[in-house]
Amino acid sequence: MRASTYPLIDADEAAALVLENTPVLGLEHVAIDDCAGRVLAEDLVAEAPLPAFPSSAVDGYALRASDAGKTLRVVGESSAGRPMHGSIGPGSAARILTGGVLPEGADCVAMVEDVHLAGDAVTVPAGLRAGSNYHKVGDDLKPGEPVLAAGTQLGAAEIGIAAATGRATLPVCRRPRVALMSTGDELVEVGRKPGPGQIPDSNRWALLAALREAGADVTVLGIAPDEPDQLREVVVGALRAADALVTSGGVSVGTHDLVKPLLESLGTVHVGRVKLKPGKPFTFATLANDRIAFGLPGFPVSSLVTFEVFVRPALRKMQGFARLQRPTLPVRLGYDARPTADRTEYQRVTLRREGRELVAETTGSQSSSRLMSLAGAHALVRVPASDQGLKAGSIVEAMILSLP
Ligand code: AMP
Ligand code: MG
Repeated sequence: MRASTYPLIDADEAAALVLENTPVLGLEHVAIDDCAGRVLAEDLVAEAPLPAFPSSAVDGYALRASDAGKTLRVVGESSAGRPMHGSIGPGSAARILTGGVLPEGADCVAMVEDVHLAGDAVTVPAGLRAGSNYHKVGDDLKPGEPVLAAGTQLGAAEIGIAAATGRATLPVCRRPRVALMSTGDELVEVGRKPGPGQIPDSNRWALLAALREAGADVTVLGIAPDEPDQLREVVVGALRAADALVTSGGVSVGTHDLVKPLLESLGTVHVGRVKLKPGKPFTFATLANDRIAFGLPGFPVSSLVTFEVFVRPALRKMQGFARLQRPTLPVRLGYDARPTADRTEYQRVTLRREGRELVAETTGSQSSSRLMSLAGAHALVRVPASDQGLKAGSIVEAMILSLP
């Protein structure tokens, strides 16, 4: 073992360094059917009013409000997509269907339930006012009105409104291309029988899921052995077609930990050690051509917690998201937490509702090798560095993964 030369920096400072050095990727125009989950790269502004024409909200009869209470002659029909020719004068009405254009001259619609029809004469109720029962031009959007802001994630309603304004393609931020690999001589491909001292590579699949959930387009590389030249070859090859590199393992200070020196030879290491538990050896570097690299620790919980704290917000910045962080909420500790003296700790918890409060219960042993502490966890509770115990009942901040 050798001592690390990297300064041990605060978790928040490390997170800020990562974001400062993470580029925002460019935009691309994508067909609307492929836009779900993507992030809008430019503000969308209404070019035309919505609705574009006065459109009936009901089935009924279009008329002049000044004719309310009278018996009128039905002179035509306006159904959705088939406007009536001609206009509505005094004493006349037109049958109209939902979505039909309000004919010229009419200023309200009587609902079919409220009229009496005899042949081509319709008696409409009194008390109808101009403007009743139809959507006016620009009721939903006026020209020049903002529709969706850059940085908005496109969900069903956002895609629907974009399509309603006639956009077949949308400007969205490019998704980060991420090369993912594991390092370690002890690792074997999942599904293969491990030999003596070997374990299945589980981090790659956990991180693949996390990367995809965060919007990355992932190239899954294999397992790199703890051998500097082979590791270098895999990394250099991978970087030709990637915006970011994510590795796991090989970042602590043992002699087989080769990722930091490699990243240093390829670029600049900004973060080499963090006052964070789990995740002290987390490493972040910038490389040539605006590319970035994350060296995550090998312990399964450490790799996923550092992913949440550092990698996910960076991937969101690359994609232009307005909000980079997961939501946080104050929660009440349901257990006595023992903080670490010199490191911020993210403890894995389940949450339960008690009245208006969320109460956090520990998921058991918080060992960084025990992935069972993260499986099923609702949140990561942030326990500030301290040598004082944190009693059950204390209010702490929780990074919410999912709510119960
Ligand atoms: P390292 O950071 O390489 O020193 O690894 C720390 C611990 O995490 C060791 O016990 C490794 O065997 C384990 N580990 C490293 N990489 C992986 C991986 N891809 N999947 C599962 N465990 C791993
Ligand atoms: Mg290793």
